[in-house]
Amino acid sequence: MRSRHTLTALAACLTLALLPTAEAHAAPGKPAKRTPFCKTHKCIALTFDDGPSENTTRLLATLKKYKAKATFFVMGSRVKKHPVLTKNIAKGGHELGNHTWSHPWLTDLEPSAIYKEINETQKLIKKLTGKAPVLFRAPGGLTDDDVVAVAAKLKLVQIPGTTSTKDYIQDNRNVVFLTTAALEVAGQDQVVLMHETVKETVDSMPKVLSTLQKQGYYFVTVSKLLEGTTLVPGERYPQTGVNEVGEGDYPGDSSGEV
Ligand SMILES: [Zn+2]
Repeated sequence: MRSRHTLTALAACLTLALLPTAEAHAAPGKPAKRTPFCKTHKCIALTFDDGPSENTTRLLATLKKYKAKATFFVMGSRVKKHPVLTKNIAKGGHELGNHTWSHPWLTDLEPSAIYKEINETQKLIKKLTGKAPVLFRAPGGLTDDDVVAVAAKLKLVQIPGTTSTKDYIQDNRNVVFLTTAALEVAGQDQVVLMHETVKETVDSMPKVLSTLQKQGYYFVTVSKLLEGTTLVPGERYPQTGVNEVGEGDYPGDSSGEV
């Protein structure tokens, strides 16, 4: 059973941690309240799952070219295999989210196994980058009360995404289709679920980024998109999202080896 008091206390800690820093010219003891960037700009949070992978370096170069920041939901087992790529993601100013160690369906596991999958990944990412993730995405979007309780215990919020290019479906994996799909689903304050392990998704990024940039969009991390929102560990965000990616909505996203 999770305690509401614990959750509230954790929420307060997390909110404090995510509060924007006071502006430099603020008077001592009177920090100025900064308006979150995405309240006044057209923001999109692009998210890439299942890495690090053989496509990470190319994706990072493309994101840099367009001054885009993104969020990478990485797997602990792949982080262990690719420590340098993991550090490069962080060095690029992108956000690392936790996507479990080995990509199991968490709803099939006992709480102790769920904890191990998520906690081992937290520890390794913190060891490599100096920062433990605050974001978690369950493989396949599959979550239940046990997953919520473990995420809350580890001070993680759940980020299932608000929309997707459906690049987990084999037949969708061509550049023209995925470019069109990304441009169709992209919109203000959307959290777009994609996979860096899908080569064609990475191939589609130059066109997607240049087109959306011309439309006035800014590409930000999920935490930046959520800035100003009080986050309760274990809960799903953004809560106002439309077309939320539902459970079972990404059936091919099972192996992490796509
Ligand atoms: Zn995945």
